[in-house]
Amino acid sequence: MRIAVYGAGGVGGYFGGRLALAGSDVHLIDRGAHLQALREHGLRVQSVKGDFKVDTRNDDKDYSRIRCPQCRWQPDKHSRWTCSPGCGHSWNTFETRGLCPDCGKKWFQTACLHCSAWSPHEDWYEERKN
Ligand SMILES: [Zn+2]
Ligand SMILES: [Zn+2]
Repeated sequence: MRIAVYGAGGVGGYFGGRLALAGSDVHLIDRGAHLQALREHGLRVQSVKGDFKVDTRNDDKDYSRIRCPQCRWQPDKHSRWTCSPGCGHSWNTFETRGLCPDCGKKWFQTACLHCSAWSPHEDWYEERKN
């Protein structure tokens, strides 16, 4: 079973955590400071039924909505970009939304590993406002 919980605070975090403990494939979707905390520390839930912790740090990112705007190629978690010109660090740019984790350089353009075309990083995300 694959479950997406939107908003990992309070209720969402509690039920998402419970489901994860029960063996479901739970994806907690949150943003901002909360997401940062989830990435760094995992999910901690304190409740009247007992406290528990769920490790969300290795949660696989959903790459199904990320595509090259030019050729529709989809990266996956093993895809790697190199910070060049820059510090030469190699990482998955979609894990950090274009930010080099080593030198902090923000890559506003992302090269496609398939067709080599450069496109604005934000254009790779298919989630569009209606
Ligand atoms: Zn760099
Ligand atoms: Zn492409």
